[in-house]
Amino acid sequence: MIQTTGLSKSFNGLEVLKSIDLRVAPKEIVVLLGPSGSGKSTLLRSLNGLEELDGGSLEVNGVRVEAGMPSKKKQAGFREIRRHTGMVFQQFNLYPHKTALGNVIESLMTVKKMKKVEAVKIGERLLDRVGLLVKKDEYPSRLSGGQQQRVAIARALAMEPAIMLFDEPTSALDPELVGEVLEVMRQLARDGMTMVIVTHEMKFARQVANRIVFMDGGVIVEEQEPEIFFQNPKSERSRKFINQLQ
Ligand code: ATP
Ligand code: MG
Repeated sequence: MIQTTGLSKSFNGLEVLKSIDLRVAPKEIVVLLGPSGSGKSTLLRSLNGLEELDGGSLEVNGVRVEAGMPSKKKQAGFREIRRHTGMVFQQFNLYPHKTALGNVIESLMTVKKMKKVEAVKIGERLLDRVGLLVKKDEYPSRLSGGQQQRVAIARALAMEPAIMLFDEPTSALDPELVGEVLEVMRQLARDGMTMVIVTHEMKFARQVANRIVFMDGGVIVEEQEPEIFFQNPKSERSRKFINQLQ
């Protein structure tokens, strides 16, 4: 479903991803952990075709992009990959002048060229799925952070992605709003969605992840089942990271 081979990425000569080999199987939930600056967001963005590759290759849902490909072919591949992946960021980035429903149906009408009545039907179903059908006509400014993030998830789901990528989806939320967003993500996991998640919610990571991928300094240091990772990590760097959490 996702496979990176020797994936590398530099910014201004600084290599922030160093030959990453990552495989994510269908329906797998992978949580990326690691200290600040270790490359988690850059890796997630690369998986979504938002970062140019400097080396290696990326395959998502059967679409393969290699660093050495001609630019046009690469860009076409990235576009295709973005169509199969939904991404949710720390900042919800909803369109402020559109209602909750308006936000969810936007891409259905512009990208999928659906008629409005058809898009509305799907949009309402998706808002219901994240528990927000009653708020469909509200503008983002009148929604709580947790509700805005749930709309952002519904919006990402509208494109029927094969994979959902989350970059610290609850980090900007007040503590009391974190749970409702995690619950929507838990439900997605139960529904069999393939997910790669960067989060600081360790209890959630432990309960929901099939695998923890621990990064430091642009490399994958350790990959492990959650129980083993948290109780008996192999590497010294993982151990240090876990000890700092407590
Ligand atoms: P955090 O936990 O703080 O979000 P992270 O693990 O997500 O950290 P990244 O954001 O992927 O880390 O950053 C990895 C490295 O790449 C950092 O040294 C960062 O400064 C650098 N970096 C990321 N994006 C850019 C950019 N657009 N231009 C230059 N450097 C960048
Ligand atoms: Mg980050």
